[in-house]
Amino acid sequence: MEQAVQEFSKLPGIGRKTALRLVLHLLRQDDDDVLQFTEAVARMKQEVQYCHVCHNISDSSLCPICSDPRRDAQTICVVENIQDVMAVENTQQFHGLYHVLGGVISPMDGIGPSDLEIESLVERVKEGGVKEVILALSSTMEGDTTNFYIFRKLAPFTDVKLSIIARGISVGDELEYTDEVTLGRSILNRTPFEGK
Ligand code: ZN
Repeated sequence: MEQAVQEFSKLPGIGRKTALRLVLHLLRQDDDDVLQFTEAVARMKQEVQYCHVCHNISDSSLCPICSDPRRDAQTICVVENIQDVMAVENTQQFHGLYHVLGGVISPMDGIGPSDLEIESLVERVKEGGVKEVILALSSTMEGDTTNFYIFRKLAPFTDVKLSIIARGISVGDELEYTDEVTLGRSILNRTPFEGK
């Protein structure tokens, strides 16, 4: 039991107390349920692979998004991680392909461009057929650094449009409570009013 508690407490956001509670919970479950749980964890680690094109998680070497002929292969959305792919997919507003960087450039954490899938993005663009690359990274200093690095790397490909997701006030937010930087950006990044 001690070993199980130790393993659970290695998970992010799980302290020793929570780990103990989870282990005691599992102890009260049927054998079958616990077996299903442990098998799911083991299988996930063995069977999940990374797509060799976009680096999203997948059951095969080419993920379902990259292999879907209905998706627009001319548009690539660059994101930090797999959760971000899921977040953009959930909007149902994007029909292109993705490129998962695996993080952002962060000298403080010792993460440089070579630790990320930036070179493979350049290779994808170099292969041709890409018309637009959308940068959808976090609105942080690290995200901005990474955007700028990619911008410089893709600058030679003059026929590829490089865009960045809009940054502005959230839906439902009141203007007077919006911070200055966000409000300033919202004004700069204003869009034509379409009457919708
Ligand atoms: Zn893929």
